[in-house]
Amino acid sequence: MLFSELNLKPSSLKAVEALGFKNPSEIQEKSIPLLMGEKEIDFVGQAQTGTGKTAAFALPLFEKIDFSSKSIQAIILAPTRELANQICQEIDKLSKFEPVRTLAVYGGVPISNQLRDLRKNKPQIIVGTPGRMLDCLKRNVLELDNCRYAILDEADEMLDMGFFDDVTEIVASVKNKKIWMFSATMPKPIVNLINNEFCDPEMVKVTKKILTSDSIDQKYCVVRRHDMAEALCRY
Ligand code: AMP
Repeated sequence: MLFSELNLKPSSLKAVEALGFKNPSEIQEKSIPLLMGEKEIDFVGQAQTGTGKTAAFALPLFEKIDFSSKSIQAIILAPTRELANQICQEIDKLSKFEPVRTLAVYGGVPISNQLRDLRKNKPQIIVGTPGRMLDCLKRNVLELDNCRYAILDEADEMLDMGFFDDVTEIVASVKNKKIWMFSATMPKPIVNLINNEFCDPEMVKVTKKILTSDSIDQKYCVVRRHDMAEALCRY
């Protein structure tokens, strides 16, 4: 399949071509038509990291949001600040020819700069780690009346890192939204969240686990923890 067959808007197609993406990945091919369809759906995509998930939700989002609006229209939750930043960067690249305003909010740095950027830049998409996002919600600084999408990326990682109560609270506090979730695995708390918060979700599963390039030769050996650095140096 080609990206040109996905009915993306011209600015998205141009950006995808500029990035050198030729064919949609499996998760993109399966999710993009569902997410950008007329019918608004809740969605669960089971896919590993590195499979092109970001474009799988960002490109449909660009078909849905109002680029002229100054209000927040989507929130994206990610387990780490690195991933939150990475998502913002990928969204910037994918919206190169029709820029969307994004803001990353995450802990470990003072909230004041993030609040300033929030007031100044009027972001349409907020990407954040659950703790800081919840902090922003409790301070009443995020105006979510026009937020129609809550996207959970790497949901199982957020669960493993102990963020799931925050995730659940955030999801429950955004009204009238559609939820798009991506997770590599489906442990019980995630299934419970789907059962409690999702409305008849479409499920897509990508089984192929192509996590690394064929050109990378991988080796491992089992050593005691204190021998690890020495063993690595020998490699
Ligand atoms: P992600 O799973 O979203 O973190 O994407 C992993 C990497 O694959 C990122 O560097 C993307 O820019 C890249 N990528 C995403 N979609 C495609 C595609 N269809 N073709 C080639 N590379 C892609």
